[in-house]
Amino acid sequence: MDLKEKKALLKKLENAYTSCSDCGSKYGVYSVGCSSVWEGKCEVCGETKRVTESRDYAYFITGIRKLKEEIKNEKKKSDSN
Ligand SMILES: [Zn+2]
Repeated sequence: MDLKEKKALLKKLENAYTSCSDCGSKYGVYSVGCSSVWEGKCEVCGETKRVTESRDYAYFITGIRKLKEEIKNEKKKSDSN
């Protein structure tokens, strides 16, 4: 994934209202015991499947933090070149 893709993914995660369980467990932490799940479009991967609110995955806080860190590191790298 290059810097541009990371930035796009970061934006997606910050704005996504819905998430499937695949994206949720990849970028976030499941934080709710019983959440409502419905058939809809996952705003992270764009697929239509069973989704829930991104709130239930702590708004992808772990994924967002990791991406921001990686973006910062890549910027540092390109500055020193
Ligand atoms: Zn998804």
